[in-house]
Amino acid sequence: RSNAERFEFQAEVSRLMDIIINSLYSNKDIFLRELISNASDALDKIRFLSLTDKEVLGEGDTTKLDIQIMLDTDRKILSIRDRGIGMTKEDLIKNLGTIAKSGTSAFVEKMQTSGDLNLIGQFGVGFYSVYLVADYVEVISKHNDDKQYVWESKADGAFAISEDTWNEPLGRGTEIRLHLREEAGEYAEESKLKELVKKYSEFINFPIFLWASKEVDVEVPANEDDSSDKEDEKSETPSEEDGSDDDTEKGDDEKKSKTKTVKEKTYEWELLNDVKAIWLRSPKEVTDEEYVKFYKSLAKDFSDEKPLAWSHFKAEGDVEFKAVLFVPPKAPHDLFESYYSGNKSNLKLYVRRVFISDEFDELLPKYLSFLKGLVDSDTLPLNVSREMLQQHSSLKTIKKKLIRKALDMIRKIADEDPDESNDKEKNDVEATDENDEKKGQYTKFWNEFGKSIKLGIIEDAANRNRLAKLLRFESTKSNGKLTSLDQYIKRMRSGQKDIFYLTGVSKEQLEKSPFLERLIKKNYEVIFFTDPVDEYLMQYLMDYEDKKFQNVSKEGLKIGKDSKGKELKEAFKDLTKWWKGILAGENVDDVKISNRLADSPCVVVTSKYGWSSNMERIMQSQTL
Ligand code: ADP
Ligand code: MG
Repeated sequence: RSNAERFEFQAEVSRLMDIIINSLYSNKDIFLRELISNASDALDKIRFLSLTDKEVLGEGDTTKLDIQIMLDTDRKILSIRDRGIGMTKEDLIKNLGTIAKSGTSAFVEKMQTSGDLNLIGQFGVGFYSVYLVADYVEVISKHNDDKQYVWESKADGAFAISEDTWNEPLGRGTEIRLHLREEAGEYAEESKLKELVKKYSEFINFPIFLWASKEVDVEVPANEDDSSDKEDEKSETPSEEDGSDDDTEKGDDEKKSKTKTVKEKTYEWELLNDVKAIWLRSPKEVTDEEYVKFYKSLAKDFSDEKPLAWSHFKAEGDVEFKAVLFVPPKAPHDLFESYYSGNKSNLKLYVRRVFISDEFDELLPKYLSFLKGLVDSDTLPLNVSREMLQQHSSLKTIKKKLIRKALDMIRKIADEDPDESNDKEKNDVEATDENDEKKGQYTKFWNEFGKSIKLGIIEDAANRNRLAKLLRFESTKSNGKLTSLDQYIKRMRSGQKDIFYLTGVSKEQLEKSPFLERLIKKNYEVIFFTDPVDEYLMQYLMDYEDKKFQNVSKEGLKIGKDSKGKELKEAFKDLTKWWKGILAGENVDDVKISNRLADSPCVVVTSKYGWSSNMERIMQSQTL
């Protein structure tokens, strides 16, 4: 085309496309839900803008916020069209090829190791999945602020953009035209497309239509039946109605000589989803299967795993809202990247069913950003800007309730997990399928999101105790399993006042620590904290259920009653004094008689308010 401008794909994008186009991955179905999800995002955007400016929707057809799928069976072209926000020329260049997103290289890397394309949507590169099924793709787009453009590429390292002077004007929105590969012929079949929409795009909040064929009876003059031949060839799909017998019988005599009934193929828009907002329904009426499907579509998580838990509830009172929260089965690839860069929560905010944003930091604290879900509020105003909404006083109330519900939901994973219970009876409950499914779920949760809970204890003073209940760790008595503070307290020796813990690099290293000698001998339990974040955690977690935490490598350890203490102190007074004199200037504050050792002759203890040796180690490794 004479007016086409050529662009090279950014290097990482090009690599990604190579991987996709050469992929032997068998589940190619995913491209359709990615395109529908993009269409839905684009519709959300224009609908949001229209809240404050009706004009953006235009008039006539462009006001219809829907998604249309069309097939050209003969030429094997599949088109997906939306009346969303559309893309300007600059958008097309940036979004579809020249600017790699942060997820691009992460996804390329993942592809090279695991090869599962299913999570492509989570990495923000879902669009390129079109090359699983097409060898040539055209994106026609019209944005309110620009002319209509065509983006096209054969995935050969480059794409072209031209002002569109030949296609029908879209009004507004985007049409993606896939020229299907030879071996992807099945996607040119209506039944396949219907199946895919049903399977993956059921919860899209805009109507999805398919330009579907339908056979109808028409009467034609009896002698000129040739005209319908070309339709007959195509009629592969069985007809639902087998001719309307009534009509032909009635007018038999008159009509017989002049007309006859033949099948003719016509097309009409068929609605494929029923646009139900699952969160508006009563939780009692929603099945587990529906929640799982809803989660997958919301989180773009099409792995085989189910969410670990969900919570669907309605808040009433001053601030009314409905919400569904999910704990994903796995932490996202960039969980802590986004944590430390202060990134958004993963909740979608709706106001009266209209999608507002999924970048509202105000809905959940950072440490809960691993949750997926949505909030739909009737209390928040609809026709204000995002910035104004962000300041709205109701958000504080919503956030508070969401945190409560989220922590309840997480606690329930533990409560329902048979592995979590120390209670023998409870442990031996009949092995029902349901129990089987819940077994080990909390350990799974902890391995994926434990660090988030710890960050929560540091961050969220108001919920510190609730979060501490969720902590898991190993100890001198946990036998290689995880245990909790509640279980620790149950096992405490009579007269024991403090919760003992020790921090270090690994359990193996800690088990050899001389600090444990006497405690173990006396049958006290000591918690092992081996995650670097634990040192910070313990600066915030001072007590639990009225028990103080005591680092056993620090000054101030009291083990039971110490009858001989005074005597010994007196007897060795000169020795400790002499020793202290020698070590002065070597960072030693004091030399004391200790009751914490059993076999080792002496040990270096840190002062009560100083850093533990483990903390020193962590700080050093950070400055290096
Ligand atoms: P993601 O949807 O996660 O951002 P994609 O690879 O699916 O990643 O899409 C890339 C970008 O291309 C989108 O963020 C959006 O800006 C743009 N885009 C894709 N499809 C459409 C569409 N139908 N309408 C408007 N913009 C679109
Ligand atoms: Mg997408």
